[in-house]
Amino acid sequence: MEIKLKSCPFCGCQEIFHAEIPTKKGRTYKIICSHCGAMTGRKKTEEKAIAAWEKRYDMK
Ligand SMILES: [Zn+2]
Repeated sequence: MEIKLKSCPFCGCQEIFHAEIPTKKGRTYKIICSHCGAMTGRKKTEEKAIAAWEKRYDMK
């Protein structure tokens, strides 16, 4: 799944990828910078993870 995401707020890298994490209750999603490792918190849907990335909230 390819969605154009904003560049990383920390390093400016544009190589951002989506992670899908299986859990006991289902799946969670987060967005991760492939360069510096900045990521969003886990979200219940990919859309929420993307929204967190785009709005720069819940970043680690
Ligand atoms: Zn980065």
